Amino acid sequence: MSVQFFPFANVNNTIRLREGKLLVRLSDLLEGAPEPVLRAIAHILLAKMYQKPIEPTHAARYRKYILSRAIRRKSHLVRQLRGRKRLAAARGSFYDLDAIFESLNLRFFGGMQARPQMSWSQNRARNLLGHYDPAHNAIIVSRIFDHPRIPRCAVEFIVYHEMLHLRHPVKLNGNRRCVHSAEFQAEERLFPELEQAQRFIRRL
Ligand SMILES: [Zn+2]
Repeated sequence: MSVQFFPFANVNNTIRLREGKLLVRLSDLLEGAPEPVLRAIAHILLAKMYQKPIEPTHAARYRKYILSRAIRRKSHLVRQLRGRKRLAAARGSFYDLDAIFESLNLRFFGGMQARPQMSWSQNRARNLLGHYDPAHNAIIVSRIFDHPRIPRCAVEFIVYHEMLHLRHPVKLNGNRRCVHSAEFQAEERLFPELEQAQRFIRRL
């Protein structure tokens, strides 16, 4: 039997039987887990391999541990470092997102914003035009904007909006998450071609 901790990108555990030898790999996020949790994992893996029912107490113990705040925080960090999310280049076939970021940075932020990774989305998403991904510190813009028919101000507006998200972290208003606060919206209105860009984006 060989058991090792392994640097998976996520909390992940595997078990295989090869030529009479059991090969077990446990996420290295589970190093230092209390013994009852390790026992639960062993039970779950063996049950899976032999297609036997998993005892609910073991399943619950494992779930509770990996959903704990400390493990969730560690796994977020690890995803950031090891995550294999493929980010496309900033330079599309028509627009260069790095160049757009830097020109907006100079025009609106005195060149003071640190540039995250800029990337075109993998597919031509219409439901998610742009977003900021904190795990990869990346601004991702839908590839439908990388087209000569799209006016530059529309791409700029999407990037500008995401840059404002970097400046205005989500606020808690009572129990409600306030994503676009009053200050956020006031700053958004400073964009000169706001109406033109929004009109175009609505038509997409
Ligand atoms: Zn937003």
